[in-house]
Amino acid sequence: MTEYDLVVVGSGFFGLTIAERMAEELGKRVLVIDRRDHIGGNAYSEADPETGIEVHRYGAHLFHTSNPGVWEYVNRFTTFTDYVHRVYTNHRDEVYPLPFNLGTVNQFFRSAHGPDAARALIAEQASELASGAVSNLEEKAISLIGRPLYEAFIRDYTAKQWQTDPTELPAEVISRLPVRYTYDNRYFNDTWEGLPTEGYTAWIERMAEHPLIEVRLSTDFFDESQPINKAELVGQVPVVYTGPIDRYFGYSNGELGWRTLDFEREVLPVGDFQGTPVMNYADREVPYTRIHEFRHFHPEREYPADRTIIMREFSRFAERGDEPYYPVNTPDDRAMLVAYRELAKQEESVYFGGRLGTYQYLDMHMAIGSALSMYENKLKPAFA
Ligand code: FAD
Ligand code: UDP
Repeated sequence: MTEYDLVVVGSGFFGLTIAERMAEELGKRVLVIDRRDHIGGNAYSEADPETGIEVHRYGAHLFHTSNPGVWEYVNRFTTFTDYVHRVYTNHRDEVYPLPFNLGTVNQFFRSAHGPDAARALIAEQASELASGAVSNLEEKAISLIGRPLYEAFIRDYTAKQWQTDPTELPAEVISRLPVRYTYDNRYFNDTWEGLPTEGYTAWIERMAEHPLIEVRLSTDFFDESQPINKAELVGQVPVVYTGPIDRYFGYSNGELGWRTLDFEREVLPVGDFQGTPVMNYADREVPYTRIHEFRHFHPEREYPADRTIIMREFSRFAERGDEPYYPVNTPDDRAMLVAYRELAKQEESVYFGGRLGTYQYLDMHMAIGSALSMYENKLKPAFA
């Protein structure tokens, strides 16, 4: 392995940001491996062969950030469309706007409240919670929107998505959703938002195209039948590892809880199925959490007028061998994570990063931002 200065395990945004910085700024030779047969991790997208519509294979990915450093960095590889994300939700066969805004409140309560009246109503409905008593997702949600809205839009959706009692889930999961006392239904609050003009894969390929970066696909770090594996590499060459942290240590402290997704794609003989990119399904009786209709992410593109592609998203606990998508993060998981972090500290030449390597719910801009920090604060000084 002496021909490489660094090996990066995982070609998602975290791994590729590290690889790109090391090659471009420090002139280091970087080998990136990925067990999948494509680069880009969960942000990978491809043109559906039947319709030509860009499909995000691992679920819809919307780029948004308020971090100027990240925004400047990503714009080196792609331009962005002016797409603004909006989500609707179906509850008892009625469609409501998300995130929670005056439109949602007034439709749900059949009212015409202004901001102050709506605020007072929700405050009253949230009054069952003593102030400061918010320690989990359910309490956080009730404190933000009151019990009736929580029960209609959050409780069953969250049960479908996480299969975990909402009182066991961390409050941060729900803090991601804005609550607004205006009719503004932008899903995100960030300064910048958009979709890569030529698609995610073109963006990702540009990050990896530096001549000092070599990428090897279909290469599993734990597969000792091929030469680029953990036993051969660790101690010989610095490694940035972005796979699951518990897998790295052979699950020696137990298995962290992850959630995986099953996606069901369907091409339909209509030009428009749902009139919007993402429709959530709030009720328990509908087995999927949401339907993505990909043509709506790129209204500026020429897509077929007589066909559309939709993708239903189902969520379940990840078994070993499934793709681990979301850390569940129960109190037991968090205790286990502390033990894994201790082990990680002892792996001197291995840097753990990314969504799986740190067991954290990271958006793309957060994965890129934390990779830029790791590069500046740890790798650059170590390699200088
Ligand atoms: P990943 O993209 O998961 O990349 C990790 C890579 O490591 C994978 O390619 C994997 O194959 C590889 N790997 C793992 N184990 C091994 C091994 N043993 N050997 C070799 N390779 C290995 N973010 C947003 O900003 N906006 C969104 O709208 C959004 N939507 C999302 C929707 C879903 C369903 C999911 C799952 C995530 C979403 N994200 C979104 C988050 C986004 O996908 C992550 O922030 C980003 O992928 C993190 O990059 P990463 O490099 O840490 O991890
Ligand atoms: N959520 C919900 N109902 C919805 C949308 C979101 O209960 O209609 C909750 C759910 O617990 C989810 C969290 O809010 O996990 C964050 O939602 P987001 O849309 O950000 O989830 P992601 O797109 O990351 O899966």
